[in-house]
Amino acid sequence: MNSFSELNLNKQILNALDEAGYEKPTPIQEKAIPQVLSGQDILGIAQTGTGKTAAFLLPILMKIKYAQGDQPRVLILEPTRELAIQVEKECEKYCKYLDIRFLAVYGGVGPKTQIEEVEKGLDIVIATPGRLMDLYRNLTLSLNSLQVMIIDEADRMMQMGFLPQIHQLLEVIPRKRQNLLFSATMPPPVKELTAEFLEFPVEIEVTPQATPAETVKQIQFQVPNLKTKINLLEKLLKDEIYSKVIVFTRSKSTADNVFKYLERKVEGNIRVIHSNKGQNSRINAINQFKEGEVRVLVSTDVTARGIDVAKVSHVINFDVPIQYEDYVHRIGRTGRAFHTGEAISLVNEAEQYHIRKIEELIRMSIEVVDLPEGLDISPTPKEEAIQIARQIDHQKRKEDPTFKGAFQEKKKRPSKNSKSFNKGGNKSKRKKR
Ligand code: AMP
Repeated sequence: MNSFSELNLNKQILNALDEAGYEKPTPIQEKAIPQVLSGQDILGIAQTGTGKTAAFLLPILMKIKYAQGDQPRVLILEPTRELAIQVEKECEKYCKYLDIRFLAVYGGVGPKTQIEEVEKGLDIVIATPGRLMDLYRNLTLSLNSLQVMIIDEADRMMQMGFLPQIHQLLEVIPRKRQNLLFSATMPPPVKELTAEFLEFPVEIEVTPQATPAETVKQIQFQVPNLKTKINLLEKLLKDEIYSKVIVFTRSKSTADNVFKYLERKVEGNIRVIHSNKGQNSRINAINQFKEGEVRVLVSTDVTARGIDVAKVSHVINFDVPIQYEDYVHRIGRTGRAFHTGEAISLVNEAEQYHIRKIEELIRMSIEVVDLPEGLDISPTPKEEAIQIARQIDHQKRKEDPTFKGAFQEKKKRPSKNSKSFNKGGNKSKRKKR
């Protein structure tokens, strides 16, 4: 499925998703959204990073439509305060154009503000079990109008000993309701809870997509242009610790160009694989790389999916993947099976946007490292500067449809153009560091 518009979501939600930069549903969203919309109970086996929050929030927002009454119609239970806050943030993102009231309530802070907010009236309450029961018992929060209940991260909920509170809760909420339960794993206590909580659930399981191995160290270099990326790559590969390296590129032509350059400049055997290379040549290159006869393998994303090579020392993202899941696949080539590895991304100014999206997806920040001393920083050719500026304008317009675009303004005066792009690029880079 290529777009959210196929999922029967309303215009307001689609606009909010577009502004959030979501291009297409993740597998769990594709599977769960129609089922939730049709009223089914759901057992979702999925980790964070798969897009599971939107998978339940979006159809729920469709169902409750707008603010109504004072008592919450939806309850989302979260094991920790951090998760409750995070889900509230997601809710805020998707509700941008909707008149729906939501609130996270959790312990660790005084109840006063939360009580005041609850009393104003709510449609969705996102809660940790302890605080929820406190607010219920002191009659701040009524649960009589609940239509949908979601238990998120059920396995963590069990580990943290919340089963008694969940039982108490199930005693007091309306029987007729829709139930959704999400869990990354299914240990016996979660299975038992599932049997008790869900009625004829539809089971949806997705493999984790966006959870990079913890054994991979991730860093990024902010590099102004293509030529400097090549210089940097060459400089890095002078060091012997780069013993078994995959260099990823988005396009076949970049892969070929990088390969040609490295072949002339870098010690050791270099090979390139992409879909225009014959099957045999690809298999040979991968085998030689596995055996250690090839030091550097240059590859596009498509051909790299199935490669299972032990002890890849470094993955270098010559450019940042625009299909963000590919980042996880790429860096999954290193740090396999308990070996540590390093993933290095070379990021130009336009690609910083995609890196931020990837950081959101993987819920990790990728450390920015200073360019090595003595690196030859080439000036950005005019064509490339224009291309980068255009991409940045496009991104800004995507985030804010009212953004007019510096690029369009400057286009009228081409002679001043390239200079100001270069200056702008460097300035913002320095600020970032
Ligand atoms: P979750 O698995 O719900 O914790 O979501 C992981 C991250 O992916 C969150 O930062 C979401 O905002 C983001 N996300 C969810 N769905 C999509 C999508 N379809 N496209 C891009 N990002 C998404």
